[in-house]
This record gives sequence, structure tokens and C-alpha cells, in this order.
Amino acid sequence: MARISNFCRLPRVRFFDLECPLHGSVSSSEIEQFDGSVLTRGCKHCHWEALHTAPKSTEAHILARGRKKAEDLNRLLVGSGISPRFNGCTFDTYRTVEGAEGMGKALGACKGYVAQFTDNYAAGRSLVLTGNVGNGKTHLACAMVQAVIREHGAQAVIATAAEIIRVFKGAMDRGAEYSDRDVLDELSSFDLLVIDEVGAQSGSAYELGVLHEVIDRRYQFVLPTVVVSNLVTVDLARYIGDRALDRLRQAGGQAIGFNWVSARGAV
Ligand SMILES: [Zn+2]
Repeated sequence: MARISNFCRLPRVRFFDLECPLHGSVSSSEIEQFDGSVLTRGCKHCHWEALHTAPKSTEAHILARGRKKAEDLNRLLVGSGISPRFNGCTFDTYRTVEGAEGMGKALGACKGYVAQFTDNYAAGRSLVLTGNVGNGKTHLACAMVQAVIREHGAQAVIATAAEIIRVFKGAMDRGAEYSDRDVLDELSSFDLLVIDEVGAQSGSAYELGVLHEVIDRRYQFVLPTVVVSNLVTVDLARYIGDRALDRLRQAGGQAIGFNWVSARGAV
């Protein structure tokens, strides 16, 4: 990961003092969880000992290992860029509507992409979600990010095109603590990057160049990228460039159309 993360926030932590029967007064903490709840940690010395010095067969060690795993998962989920508004967006909560042909197909294709993520990752196989506003593209994109993290333990991150452009521009600020190279390095370090709302605003040549460069860099590193856009394919090609779209289609990268009549409120 890049030195400074511009895209992955850390869970919020609140420190407080705790009285441990073994270690006396120690500093403990409450950690924000992805689902919005808070997890209270116990004595950190007890945890460290259970994890590193207790025999592996003891209940204390097994519990500590489980907690470590849960903390690693929570860090990936909180750092995924999925905002609290979208943390309930999973494949299970995506409601297909009768008569909206293509919805079930889109859901199946997104699920399939995650199920085959090991292969997709190895091949750097990307995915494009295009179509009408209000058809749940962001819902399914968030569901994919969450599922890739939970099922594959991979680092998956979603960011809007506007956010990526804003971060790149921030590198040019006087006194900026990162360079545009750092941003590019970070964006090409994630196992899966989802770029949402591509084409939501008319972009300057610089802005389009930035998106093109991110897609191209991930392509060079054989890393998969999911691009989500309201534009139809021909307009998307014009927006990010034919070459970038070609990159996304390499190794059998599919495009999924969300072209049914808007179902906002139903998904
Ligand atoms: Zn203790």
C-alpha cells in the first residue's frame, strides 16, 4: 500500500483505560465496525500473549486468532470505500423486479464474477457495468467489493471517478503530502478497483487522461478493474478512450448492460 492512503480510511478508534486482573491499568480501545457497531477490545497484553505465547490448542489462542482475523476483515471492509449508506448492499439485498428483464442476468453476472475472482484476478479480467441511472449498478458494485473481501480476503476498493480526479488534483496543491505518482501507485496496488460514476460529469482532457492512466496502469500490472457508468458503451469509449476500453475488454472482460426501465426504490 502507498505511504499515505487517499482511498482507504482506517476504522475509528476510541481509547480508554481498563483494569486487567493480570496486567493492572492498561490502555484499551473501541473499534468502529463495518456494520456501524462498535467492538470493545479487552486487555491488549492478554490478547498478545494469547496470540503469540499461549499453546496453539488452548481456547484463549483460538479465540485470539479468530479476533485477529475478524479485525483484519473489518479493516479491509471499512477501508473499501463503501460508505455507511451502502454497507447493506449485498447480492442478497438486491431485489430483482418482475418484468425488469436483465436484472436477474446482471445479478448473476456480478455474482459469477466474484465466484470466479481467483481466475479473474490471475487473468486481470475486468468488468464494465453500464446503463440507466437507478438500476442498482452501485448496489451491485458495492456487493461485489464486499463479497471479494469476505470470500477471497482480497483488498477491493470502490471510488468514484470524481474522487479519484480530486485526489490526483490534490497532489498539485502547494505543500501536498503526496505526489501523483503515489496516487497511481496506490490505485494500482488494490487487488480489485471499482471506479464508479464514470462519465457522470463532462471531464477535461486532464481528467480523462487521469482515468485512462489508472486503467492503463492496472492493465500493465494485470490487475482487474470494474468500471461503472451511466454512459452507453459507445459514449464510454469516447469518454475514457478506445484504448482504455480495449484494456477493460482484454482476457474476456465482459460488459453488463443495465438497460431496463429504472427501478429506483425497488432495489
Ligand atoms: Zn491483561
